[in-house]
Amino acid sequence: MPFDLPQKTIGYFCSYVPEELLIAAGFNPIRIIPGATDASLSQTHLQSYTCYLARACLHRAIKGELNSLEGVIFTHTCDTMQCLADIWPQACPHKIVETFNLPTVLSSEKALPYTMAELERLKGRLEASIGLLIGEEALREAVKIANRKRILLQNLASRREKMPASRFFSLVNKALTLPLGEAISFLENLEVEEEENPGKVRIVLAGSTLDDLSLVDFIEESGGKIVDDDFCNGTRYFQTLADESIPPIEAIARRLLERPICPCKFLKPGAYSQSLLEKTRKAKAQGLILVRQKFCDPWGWEFPLMQSLFQEKKVPILMVEVEQPGSLGPIATRIQAFLEMIAEG
Ligand code: SF4
Ligand code: SF4
Repeated sequence: MPFDLPQKTIGYFCSYVPEELLIAAGFNPIRIIPGATDASLSQTHLQSYTCYLARACLHRAIKGELNSLEGVIFTHTCDTMQCLADIWPQACPHKIVETFNLPTVLSSEKALPYTMAELERLKGRLEASIGLLIGEEALREAVKIANRKRILLQNLASRREKMPASRFFSLVNKALTLPLGEAISFLENLEVEEEENPGKVRIVLAGSTLDDLSLVDFIEESGGKIVDDDFCNGTRYFQTLADESIPPIEAIARRLLERPICPCKFLKPGAYSQSLLEKTRKAKAQGLILVRQKFCDPWGWEFPLMQSLFQEKKVPILMVEVEQPGSLGPIATRIQAFLEMIAEG
């Protein structure tokens, strides 16, 4: 199959989706974001104690807002995503609904051959859907083009301290939700007006995905300065490149195993918390704010470990629980108190 910039789009929820395979199959991979401030249509399929991310995305799909997608690719991560993958074909008309089964224990010696075999399996499923074989050359080109987008986002991140954090995150979100060619040209031609952020307390913000930019604005208006992040629509997406000098399936697999993990995956006990501590120190940040989606178990389980590690190392840490965008409520006071405590030393 010759390689052209993709015309059709396919949606995904998780940064562990192998975008390169989708690109090589002729699709624009588009991140599905909740966007809506309403998740009511999901109630016929999901309990109200499911995270807002899953409920709002399903709501958008049932409403028909995702009908232009050829399909949706899930990953084997949390229970919520597994359930959503089962429900999706009943609720939405997409032609392609597949799950990519990345192993949970990424440090196992079997993880690499397993991931490569799983990539081959998904490749076969995509080939059956499009009626074409995906050749080595198309895969190599797809690896390069996915890397190109990640490099452009890394360049943007190198200038993040010169702009309000909400602008940085909205630019990243835009790049993740545009068709590939448009996203690359948007990032290549982006001129960012520098603007001094008056916030003084250097903070790393972390969580699964970041949808509520009013939270980011609130932190910066309250004296915080977000100097780095650990989100799947942030640095976790673009921090690691695939090796263009090795066979493409191996390069894609190695990248997935070597990129920063999230609490849905396992390397060794405490690995994720340790990586956040290192990130906080490297960014010369004075504290970390963890944004947990309400009802999200993986991040809830990780927090006690993270809290004890940060407390032991005397690095301030705060967890806030969010649900629907815009409803800061009582967490506003906790954020203000946290920033004041750090500022007063
Ligand atoms: S936090 Fe983990 S499971 Fe959720 S989107 Fe990111 S990589 Fe996927
Ligand atoms: S990891 Fe958490 S926020 Fe992400 S889909 Fe699963 S439950 Fe929802």
